Amino acid sequence: MQIFGDRAHPVLEILEDLIRIPSVNPHYDGSSAGEIGIADYLEHRFNNSAFSVTRQPVLPRRDNVIVELKTGHPDRVLLFEAHMDTVSFGSMLEPLTPLYREGKLFGRGSCDTKSTLAGMIYAMEQCALQPELLNADLILCASVDEEHAYRGLTAFMELNIPIAAAVVGEPTELSIVVEHKGCTRFLIRTHGKAAHSSVPSEGDSAIYQMVHVLRHIKEKIEPQLIESRTQLCGAATIAVGTISGGEEINIIPEACEIKVDRRIIPGETPQQVLMDFESSLRNDVERYGVKLTIDPLLYDPALHTHHDAEVVKCAQKAARALGLKSELCGVPYGSNASKLQQYKGIPTIVYGPGSIAQAHSREEWVPVDGVIQAAEFYLRLAQTF
Ligand SMILES: [Zn+2]
Repeated sequence: MQIFGDRAHPVLEILEDLIRIPSVNPHYDGSSAGEIGIADYLEHRFNNSAFSVTRQPVLPRRDNVIVELKTGHPDRVLLFEAHMDTVSFGSMLEPLTPLYREGKLFGRGSCDTKSTLAGMIYAMEQCALQPELLNADLILCASVDEEHAYRGLTAFMELNIPIAAAVVGEPTELSIVVEHKGCTRFLIRTHGKAAHSSVPSEGDSAIYQMVHVLRHIKEKIEPQLIESRTQLCGAATIAVGTISGGEEINIIPEACEIKVDRRIIPGETPQQVLMDFESSLRNDVERYGVKLTIDPLLYDPALHTHHDAEVVKCAQKAARALGLKSELCGVPYGSNASKLQQYKGIPTIVYGPGSIAQAHSREEWVPVDGVIQAAEFYLRLAQTF
């Protein structure tokens, strides 16, 4: 147990509570009850006159919990957002038992992202004790379904609550993240003509057509992307994840399809990236008689918060006051932050303890020091903003 002053820091007790409550996203385990246990815990914990608590139904028995702390600044709301769901237990031996070892706290969700949720709960509770120190109203949104299709955050955004700035909790190793990648995912299908393999000339192989598509991706698109880098996020990337085609060994294949994951960088939009890709591809492969269709599977914007935004400046000030890193960073993975920033125009940062490397791993853990530092950072940021 980490000692803070002469006792354990209160955020650790909150985090232990959260780890003990299973909240596996039902997408990964159909028998899971989802986030309801965490939602009940939050509703109970914030059930006092300082806060107003709302449960927003998103999916059956899966509610966002929205906690408001009003300090007389309804025109100036700072949002704390963290998701309640985790990935499956996998082969973790004791996923629901908070275990301390060598300065680390183990447990499923300890890193992604119950430590940030615990820190935000702590900050809300501390702020409620001294609301006169705040120049903003606070909202904590604990959302469902981030690990699958972020339907919790989407539902929250539909409420159209005016929000001045937001902090999304994810493991950033206590870096102030203002940029991250997004992605566009799509399916490419080539269309051939079936024939018996004894007379291939009567058919048109969809697999051979796909060779031209793959060559275009590998030889034309990939080298272009290496050139396109931003300072904080690095280069955009493209990867073909799956391929399937053909039905039998003795039939010329009529169809072939691949699924493609193109990671986009700040400055790109997922829809435009796909349009540009399609026109470049068609231009290149039409001469080979390739017949293809493209279907989008997912558009996820990149995070691109202005480096001079007030929330960014306040975050840097709070970090410096606590002796923490204050330089701005980018990360390659996506989060709820980009949706708030791109779809709602809310300046948003991502911040939290722990590393994404531990997030979905077999032995998920978070550094105990980091949990405490993040909690104090959220509190300081709320009081600085
Ligand atoms: Zn997460």
